[in-house]
Amino acid sequence: MINLELPKKLRASANQAHQVAAQIFRPVSRKYDLSEHDYPVELDTMAAMVEGLADSGTQDISGATGGRKSEKGDGEETSHATELLGNSNGGNMSALLNALETSWGDVGLMLSIPYQGLGNAAIAAVATDEQLERFGKVWAAMAITEPSFGSDSAAVTTTATLDGDEWVLNGTKIFVTAGSRATHIVVWASVDRSKGRAAIKSFVVPRDAPGLSVARLEHKLGIKASDTAELRLEDCRIPKDNILGSPEVNVEKGFAGVMQTFDNTRPLVAAMAIGVGRAALEELRRILTEAGVEISYDIPAMNQHAAAAEFLRLEADWEAAYLLALRAGWMADNKKPNSLEASMSKAKAGRMGTDVTLKAVELAGALGYSQRTLLEKWSRDSKILDIFEGTQQIQQLIVARRVLELTSTELK
Ligand SMILES: Cc1cc2nc3c(=O)[nH]c(=O)nc-3n(C[C@H](O)[C@H](O)[C@H](O)COP(=O)(O)OP(=O)(O)OC[C@H]3O[C@@H](n4cnc5c(N)ncnc54)[C@H](O)[C@@H]3O)c2cc1C
Repeated sequence: MINLELPKKLRASANQAHQVAAQIFRPVSRKYDLSEHDYPVELDTMAAMVEGLADSGTQDISGATGGRKSEKGDGEETSHATELLGNSNGGNMSALLNALETSWGDVGLMLSIPYQGLGNAAIAAVATDEQLERFGKVWAAMAITEPSFGSDSAAVTTTATLDGDEWVLNGTKIFVTAGSRATHIVVWASVDRSKGRAAIKSFVVPRDAPGLSVARLEHKLGIKASDTAELRLEDCRIPKDNILGSPEVNVEKGFAGVMQTFDNTRPLVAAMAIGVGRAALEELRRILTEAGVEISYDIPAMNQHAAAAEFLRLEADWEAAYLLALRAGWMADNKKPNSLEASMSKAKAGRMGTDVTLKAVELAGALGYSQRTLLEKWSRDSKILDIFEGTQQIQQLIVARRVLELTSTELK
């Protein structure tokens, strides 16, 4: 029989994240929506809590570092019987649920949680033990996008040249989430542009590395609490062993190495959309109930108030996205290749998030469009979750390639 309930261990850490979201994020959500680029000082309280939890061995709150914990944590936390069944719930599932809960509080603030950047997930996924030792506690942003490309990650023009014991990086990265606040940036650069995508590697660049500067901050539609920076790398020097993974250029393998980080981060972004979607559904249910609309699970939707029928449709869509994301996270924890499921979950959740939050504005009418509730904010915040870490169209392309067994050259 299928049991869709979460294991006790995961429920506990998700509850903890929910408390943080309810008590720290929600009360200041509108404040930082109205003051873009102000540093949310409340996050320092949060950072202290994360540090405390990490020291006590409890899961991190947002869980962006979860990718690696599956390896370390499972052995300690999974029961022998569960291991025998080949079924474990480790860092990825925990990260996913924590991202969901904190995004229920506020996506922009969630993306600004110190020491939990998307670059941390990249480090956790591919760093050596020695690098984990050095970078395990940094706050890392992720810099892939450049002025000349977004979706086509193989088009990286930033270069990394080895000079003695240092890599010298040159290029411009745009739209870097937490780019001005993080202590480190994981930068994608080519070690040999003549070798194409196989030469693209990721490098951990400390914020104070000579030659790294913040050129500007973006003004955006939503997630205004999150800083989005343009970074310049001008003869930026970093130690030779700050390259993640092997420096060898393996043309056979392509850039599978760096792309692998998406298998961990896409379900996380899906979870963010699921978190903000649930926030909108809860608020919508409250508004509809106050307006006297009854939502019943016993009567066919077509026999109910039109708003109730629409609510039930949105809720079913939400649930499908939730289950797809859980599957992608569970597969990662159980070392099953999950690129297809990671993209499926992000495509579904990204679409669901924008649909649910915008429909909630619509069904709540003028109240939904006003700033008296957070509904209009959530409809702005959710759109990015269908754009970064691969747009809706790119996820669909990846799913199609996998299902049809076509290469990126055969299906563009
Ligand atoms: C707020 C914000 C935060 C971000 N944070 C980060 C970050 O931390 N790190 C980072 O590296 N980047 C980040 N990005 C960049 C983001 O990942 C890119 O914007 C995204 O990948 C899309 O790239 P693009 O904007 O160049 O759009 P394009 O690639 O130019 O795409 C434009 C449109 O064309 C569609 N399209 C493109 N190719 C195809 C195709 N083959 N088939 C069908 N449709 C296609 C796209 O889906 C999209 O709808 C961020 C962006 C924003 C807005």
